[in-house]
Amino acid sequence: MSDAWDEETDVVVLGYGGAGAAAAISAHDTGAKVVIVEKNQGGGNTRLATLTFLCPIKGQTAKKHIRALSFGTLEEETIDAFVQWSSKNVGFIRELGGETEVCPPGPTFPNLPGSEAMVRYRVKGKEGELGGESLWRLLSQNVEQRNIQVYWQTTAKRLLRFGDEIVGVETEHGGRRLKVRARRGIILSTGGFEYNEVMKRDYFSGYPIYSFGHGGNQGDGLKLAQDVGAELWHMKALAAPLGYKFPGYDAAFIMWMSAHGFIIVDQQGRRFCNETGLEKYSMWMEVARFDMGGLRFSRIPSYLIFDERTRLSGPITRAGHGANRGYKWSDDNSEEIRRGWIVSGRDAEELACGLGMDSAPQLGKTLTAYQKSCRTGKDKEFGRSEETLVEFRGRLYGVPLWPCLLNTQGGPKRNARGQILDVWGSPIKRLYGAGELGSIWGFLYQSGGNLGECLASGRMAGHHAASETPLA
Ligand SMILES: Cc1cc2nc3c(=O)[nH]c(=O)nc-3n(C[C@H](O)[C@H](O)[C@H](O)COP(=O)(O)OP(=O)(O)OC[C@H]3O[C@@H](n4cnc5c(N)ncnc54)[C@H](O)[C@@H]3O)c2cc1C
Repeated sequence: MSDAWDEETDVVVLGYGGAGAAAAISAHDTGAKVVIVEKNQGGGNTRLATLTFLCPIKGQTAKKHIRALSFGTLEEETIDAFVQWSSKNVGFIRELGGETEVCPPGPTFPNLPGSEAMVRYRVKGKEGELGGESLWRLLSQNVEQRNIQVYWQTTAKRLLRFGDEIVGVETEHGGRRLKVRARRGIILSTGGFEYNEVMKRDYFSGYPIYSFGHGGNQGDGLKLAQDVGAELWHMKALAAPLGYKFPGYDAAFIMWMSAHGFIIVDQQGRRFCNETGLEKYSMWMEVARFDMGGLRFSRIPSYLIFDERTRLSGPITRAGHGANRGYKWSDDNSEEIRRGWIVSGRDAEELACGLGMDSAPQLGKTLTAYQKSCRTGKDKEFGRSEETLVEFRGRLYGVPLWPCLLNTQGGPKRNARGQILDVWGSPIKRLYGAGELGSIWGFLYQSGGNLGECLASGRMAGHHAASETPLA
């Protein structure tokens, strides 16, 4: 350890999104002096989110449900701690001066036991505020009101150890290195690894997989934690709907249909799922299957195919969240056809050729079978419900579909106090984690679960880090 510190404080928070803000507020209110280190402008994916946060009803029912969603990836005391802290999320927002309202429906998986305890809320926003902006405004205002120092455009590069304790961090700003000493603790809240291609290839089945969110989330926190011996967990867990990816835009656009006249096909033009019955966050599971015949991911990309009526019924995406929320998609999708993002064809053959699909005749056969299902009201193979079987009319349209991340969940494993654990299961002294980096969501994802966890795990980590005995 170097004794040449540039700055000294009680608690250092690395990454200023929802989890970092909640951690900083909580550490400050527990009595600590706090410094935040942020690589970009702050807000991360929190500011770009849709809007909902989970605040479960405290008790055994919520625990049962989270246990069921985890498929064995969580220990009981972690579930207990999560329910204990997250069930107070609404109270926390009110303490900060925010107003909340319930966002029905609550549960994402109503068929799993205990789902009735899953209740989602949002922070009421001002006119014109999009998605996570109302939550972010509230959190960042509270950080400002507490005069918490934020080092903007400053990247955490390395955690600094003395003996078996983490005592500080080396950061970089404009090519200049700065060492910040943390007398009580450090909280890692640098978000996910949505823009780290190497990690995505290594940990996920299926590639490429794009992202809707913030380009700053490159998995830095994983490296920082691994460097000091942290155990990783939940690396293959993710929430990823399907979306579109176009040249000139780093982030993807989410697929969102305002009419039922559409199907999804693989590269050979075959349907493979009940398109209108897909669970949004797990859509990636439908396309991540490796085709052992063709030795490739034959559903990455898949293709969204729709007709003239669907085109005219509204945008095939939903604006208002994600990194592309400034883009104004045309109401009838015509601008995106003009740009060449949506391909059009007189018939299946022309469309398949335009899209570069493997088999033009097969798409024709698939559409004929689909039209027949619409007329009989029965989708024998994939069980699509009768009211969603809407016959195609007029010109055809198509666009490649990719799995696209709302969030990654993997990262350093933390215990029920938010401490990051080493590979032997012992806490790495004075090192805490919060938010999407090393999230508790180890398998199925409950909507609102990440922002709910940011608020809960941030507060928990902030409180415990601030309560550490200070270094001499
Ligand atoms: C389009 C979209 C919609 C979503 N909607 C919802 C929703 O409605 N409900 C929900 O619960 N979840 C939603 N999510 C997921 C949720 O937004 C995120 O999981 C959550 O905001 C993560 O918060 P965080 O604080 O952990 O990380 P972030 O908010 O992403 O913040 C991490 C911060 O760390 C900074 N950072 C990274 N590396 C470093 C470094 N080396 N040094 C310093 N700083 C660093 C980044 O710049 C960033 O500001 C959505 C995500 C997306 C993309």
